[in-house]
Amino acid sequence: MAVDPLIELRDVNKYYGQLHVLRNIDLTVARGEVVVVIGPSGSGKSTLCRTINRLETIESGRITIDGRPLPEEGRGLARLRAEVGMVFQSFNLFAHKTVLANVSLAPVKVRGLKKEDADRRSRELLDRVGLADQADKLPAQLSGGQQQRVAIARALAMDPKALLFDEPTSALDPEMINEVLEVMRRLAEEGMTMVVVTHEMGFARSAAHRVVFMADGRIVEDRSPEDFFTAPASERARDFLSKIL
Ligand code: ADP
Ligand code: MG
Repeated sequence: MAVDPLIELRDVNKYYGQLHVLRNIDLTVARGEVVVVIGPSGSGKSTLCRTINRLETIESGRITIDGRPLPEEGRGLARLRAEVGMVFQSFNLFAHKTVLANVSLAPVKVRGLKKEDADRRSRELLDRVGLADQADKLPAQLSGGQQQRVAIARALAMDPKALLFDEPTSALDPEMINEVLEVMRRLAEEGMTMVVVTHEMGFARSAAHRVVFMADGRIVEDRSPEDFFTAPASERARDFLSKIL
């Protein structure tokens, strides 16, 4: 397969004060690829996502999105954030706005779409995540799984080149996890480039092209799910898997 890199990190290092939280990170995510990131709590998974989306600065190294370096600030940064959507554990919807308004907001504000056009497209996206009939409700009237699907529709509304998911199902009741994973699975099948931090090993096995295992700020393993789950190479990964499987 010809590699067509969309997200590239080269020798990235990040500190929080004295804490060396990302250590010499090299990671390439090809267009259309689904990379699942797993690892113990505190290993740097969220920081990695936030770094890719430029919510955090780095001390050294290079990050490029579709061949272009990450801009420092200003317009370029807003454009980049639109190119790489992010879905968080806590859905972060605007509580006082309808579901539809939550999805239309950024296209209108950041992209200057006309409200009618943004709303029409938002309804299509809500339909895609199975929420066509919930458009006029407030987030609090929806279940957690539905709210997270709204958050996914909102991220899609900016036509991102890639989506980052940081433990998108960790805050959900068990019976709602699958409806969110199902939407993510469909996006993956449609060719969306995705970086997914998750503890859902079933999703990792079935949807990921690669599994990246992190520990102590390093990428310890970066392999196919088959290889990773049947024969993890490192003691750290074996130990982690024995605890969660
Ligand atoms: P993970 O998502 O794998 O649990 P994080 O990326 O959230 O790990 O955190 C990695 C390390 O960085 C942890 O030791 C955490 O306590 C620390 N950390 C995360 N965010 C901050 C912050 N804003 N300031 C200082 N330390 C932080
Ligand atoms: Mg985290």
